[in-house]
Amino acid sequence: MITDCLFCKIAAGEIPAKVVYSDETLVAFEDINPQAPHHFLIIPRKHICTALDLTTADNELIGHVYQVAGKIAHDLDFSEDGFRLVTNCNSAGGQVVWHLHFHLLGGRDMEWPPG
Ligand code: 5GP
Ligand code: ZN
Repeated sequence: MITDCLFCKIAAGEIPAKVVYSDETLVAFEDINPQAPHHFLIIPRKHICTALDLTTADNELIGHVYQVAGKIAHDLDFSEDGFRLVTNCNSAGGQVVWHLHFHLLGGRDMEWPPG
């Protein structure tokens, strides 16, 4: 855990969040500023700064992210309609929190290309 990392603190339960899924490796919680009727952040418990910091040792972890995203969407009944799972990487990619996270967005039609 990185002591000054917001998402490490959320994963550790030191900062409150509306958690919708949790296991040994991942936590998923509601985004504080939702951009869709369903907007969750799926994060690894371990601190990984950006998508560029992933290694082959994380392959199973990232596969698990997709399975958990599908489970959340299924359990909350928006998997059939569809959803978007997206990671912003570095500044031009729109990343502002430096702990890897996946936005799970659903409950409305998404636009393409994204802004
Ligand atoms: P990024 O732009 O880094 O991809 O996304 C960061 C996300 O974290 C944003 O959607 C923002 O609303 C969310 N966020 C920032 N601070 C908090 C917080 O304290 N709690 C929760 N639940 N979400 C946060
Ligand atoms: Zn962290």
